[in-house]
Amino acid sequence: MELKVGVIGTGGIGQEHIRRLTNVITGAKVTAVSDINKETAQKVAEKYGAKFYESGEEVINAPEVDAVVIASWDPTHAGYVLESIKSGKYVFCEKPLATTADECIDIIKAEVKAKKHLVQVGFMRRFDSGYRELKKVIESGKLGAPLMIHACHRNLTHIPSHTTDMTITNSGIHEIDISRWLLDEEYENGQVLTVKQNSNSSKKLLDPQIIQLKTKSGVRIDVEVNMSSGYGYDIQCEVVCEKGAVRLPDPNKVLVRYNCQRSYEIYEDWSQRFIEAYDIEFQEWVNSVKYNKLTGPSSWDGYVACVTADTLIKSRNTGAAEDVVTIDKPQFYK
Ligand code: NAP
Repeated sequence: MELKVGVIGTGGIGQEHIRRLTNVITGAKVTAVSDINKETAQKVAEKYGAKFYESGEEVINAPEVDAVVIASWDPTHAGYVLESIKSGKYVFCEKPLATTADECIDIIKAEVKAKKHLVQVGFMRRFDSGYRELKKVIESGKLGAPLMIHACHRNLTHIPSHTTDMTITNSGIHEIDISRWLLDEEYENGQVLTVKQNSNSSKKLLDPQIIQLKTKSGVRIDVEVNMSSGYGYDIQCEVVCEKGAVRLPDPNKVLVRYNCQRSYEIYEDWSQRFIEAYDIEFQEWVNSVKYNKLTGPSSWDGYVACVTADTLIKSRNTGAAEDVVTIDKPQFYK
């Protein structure tokens, strides 16, 4: 039987997910949509044969909705997640889970009270075949223990409304989650270093920034988060271990020999670079909902990412490394 999915938010990624749920993966059907931008949502509803609702709450509580996808604006996530838990429905929430750690704690409390894992957060890199291969090599133990991660997150350019904090909460948050997942351990402290301003970035934006994290066992992570690389969307990651190193592969692109040069294409943005990861993420989510056992990133993962992002922003303001302080992990998430 098909899983009936309601989608809140029919902007860029919302429409991408509706297309993927309808045309790419199996076992799901989009039955209801809403967006604050009603005109777009109505058009999308018509295109996919879904029902349009005036509000996200109506989508969540609609009888023809078994599970919810939240792809609306960041500050709306927590409220919709809480409403989904209240109605006992599975919910896939695009990152970030919430915009404050307190909201994440409210979600954790509600989920624990419901005694059921209902929430998955959209950290799609965990579904990327390259990152999965990287993790497999680390866990095989053949390279010894990981010591350092060197990574970079480069965007071609940034939207005009992008802010210095968004570099951490919106882009850097993927790096925060993926390093923690690769190493399977928690952070002790973190710091943001500022760099000479790129003259091509907005004058109001500190760009690039360098994120530094240290795990409880002492692994050091450095990530260049660069919103105006000027050449493409480029994600790099190398894990240096005791006996070797392992590096994230570049996407499969043909090598062209032409005009005395060798070259291959670099993607423009995340939607192209991680398209397969999103497809796998949604197929696995739909399957796990049907089996009644979620396997993807949890509310706890969303909470830790949020606390770590807050810590990094604090450190940029204090100029010193700051401890990452979380609540005790509830038994429910162990
Ligand atoms: P977007 O194109 O601006 O779409 C967001 C949509 O949500 C817009 O249509 C917006 O309407 C609508 N919206 C705002 N408030 C709402 C509300 N109260 N109820 C319902 N809809 C509301 O942004 P996007 O790029 O699709 O991003 C959406 C979410 O996905 C963000 O949280 C973002 O962080 C996340 N995201 C994740 C990834 C990833 O790699 N996992 C990538 C991209 C985005 P208006 O345009 O009228 O404001």
